[in-house]
Amino acid sequence: MNTPDKVRVRIAPSPTGNCHVGTARTALYNMLFARKYGGKFVLRIDDTDLQRSTKESEEGVLEGLRWLNIKWDEGPDVGGPYAPYRQMERQHTYRQVAEQLMAQGDAYHCYCTPEELEAERKAALAEGRPPRYSGKCARLTDEERARLDASGAKRVVRLKVPETTLSFVDLVRGEQHKNMAERGDFVIIKSDGSPVYNFATVVDEHLMEITHVFRAVEHLTNTFDQLAVYHAMGWAPPQFGHLTLMLNPDRTKISKRAGAVYIGEFREMGYLPEALVNFLALLGWNPGTDQEIFSMDQLVEAFSVETLSKSDAIFDIKKLDWFNGVYIRSLTVADLASRVKPFMEKAGFDVSDQARLEAAVSLITDRINKLTEAPDMIGFLFTKEIEISSDAFLGKGKIGPDQAREALARSREALAALKEWEHETVESALRGLADQMRWKAGDLLMQVRIAITGRRVTPPLFESLVLLGKDESLRRIGQALAVLGD
Ligand code: ZN
Repeated sequence: MNTPDKVRVRIAPSPTGNCHVGTARTALYNMLFARKYGGKFVLRIDDTDLQRSTKESEEGVLEGLRWLNIKWDEGPDVGGPYAPYRQMERQHTYRQVAEQLMAQGDAYHCYCTPEELEAERKAALAEGRPPRYSGKCARLTDEERARLDASGAKRVVRLKVPETTLSFVDLVRGEQHKNMAERGDFVIIKSDGSPVYNFATVVDEHLMEITHVFRAVEHLTNTFDQLAVYHAMGWAPPQFGHLTLMLNPDRTKISKRAGAVYIGEFREMGYLPEALVNFLALLGWNPGTDQEIFSMDQLVEAFSVETLSKSDAIFDIKKLDWFNGVYIRSLTVADLASRVKPFMEKAGFDVSDQARLEAAVSLITDRINKLTEAPDMIGFLFTKEIEISSDAFLGKGKIGPDQAREALARSREALAALKEWEHETVESALRGLADQMRWKAGDLLMQVRIAITGRRVTPPLFESLVLLGKDESLRRIGQALAVLGD
């Protein structure tokens, strides 16, 4: 691979309102490559194919990338020396290049109607020829053209495609060829004056001085049409690298139907952006070592095109869960609390007391794998309304309503007698009581746990009681006794 002095790469998402994980991965690799070689990473909005693209739909894509800490040096939001960075604002440039191609005889107006083209296609297929455009409008005389223009006939601009084989060396997949004799002259400017994707892209890549194009494999076949434009204009193409597919564990292509595919969805599901970035980095790139946890700086350091994988990547959400747990445990309590906060608020809990939230979060750092689990785990510390049914207290075996009532009544008594409300005092009171009553400590503690939380699985009990405070703990045990009919 050649790395010029000035590396310039780009991502060119369509403004769809959502940032797809595939877009995010491609953006990430481009950014890592730019950082690695001290180059620039450009974000361009490919909005020509969308009839109604809005600033909001563009913002949705950018927001997903920003959340992942993927930053670009030039783009519609930050500007740059090659502005504008939205294709809709570059229409004039595309038409100028098309004019130039026509002036030099490499493109021409085509007036064929859809019906004519369809008839031509059918005739070609019937005769066993490739169904390509015949090129007949290239042979129109000036008089015929003038007559058609005067009649107001719709016209497109077609590129003259030489009947040769085009090839390039893909940075990921090696040498690629296509015989363009089968392709025929293709449209570069539609009848409404807008450019086709493969034309606008080349004009932008060239004028923005893009040196390397890393993109989804879906674009591999587009590369040949693009090369035809580069050749016609006498421009040197960038180097291309087409990334591998992302597949579900059953090897189907990831799709909205099969699970989450948008960055916003992963965010709502309680994943950390740094975990998702680390996971995406390893989907299609292999550092060649056992190291799995990479900070963004470490990714820049380790990333290389040579280690981009050549086989499709399996998108295994269980692996993402694992990364998320690792990253959650690496956060400070204050940081984790601030990330948990919106999820608590969304679940309706008042978590305005930061110190209390941090104390609660410190109880679950070891067991939480997704931020969405927090409301379930610590919500009881931020509400007065605990829902409990009397059935909740009845364990397997000998714990019936009478036993539950007795355990709770005596626990309340023992706790009420405490002068100091601390982990040690609370623990020794309840353990002492279990001994006296000849209960297994775990069984007694479970009764208290259910009374104060409404759940059987919770953060550590003694810390929870301390955090709730004496009055509230006693109130909840009293409430549980009421439920049990004391
Ligand atoms: Zn024609």
